[in-house]
Amino acid sequence: MTMDVLEAVRKSMRANRSKDTQPELKLRRALWAAGMRGYRKNVKTLPGKPDVAFTRYKVAVFLHGCFWHGCPACESRKNLHPTQNAAFWSEKVRRNKERDVATQAALSEAGWTVLVFWEHEMRESAAAVAEAIGAVLAQRGRPA
Ligand SMILES: [Zn+2]
Repeated sequence: MTMDVLEAVRKSMRANRSKDTQPELKLRRALWAAGMRGYRKNVKTLPGKPDVAFTRYKVAVFLHGCFWHGCPACESRKNLHPTQNAAFWSEKVRRNKERDVATQAALSEAGWTVLVFWEHEMRESAAAVAEAIGAVLAQRGRPA
């Protein structure tokens, strides 16, 4: 692995591990700006520990890192995967994707609506993401 790739992966791992990642902070600011309060963050008691959970409306929101969760849009641009140890990383991502599917199924079974947004969507427009969440909350009975 080249140093560049290693450093990128380390950065990504750090971001992945920390509780308040940049996309999460961005989303919370956008939710606040859109007047959406009353959610819990990093809810450990729910499958997959959603980044944001509107418990009253049973809407769970995940922000997925494009690399770690195998974003199809970014993957097709081929700008995500390290060229060295490709098999190792793709196996890791594959397992993450598998876990995501299981997590979403478990939440759906428990009556939750699951929303997944990609890191690149958050980069493009956190406000648009907040708006999409608001639309789903409205469907679940949240007064506008
Ligand atoms: Zn992406």
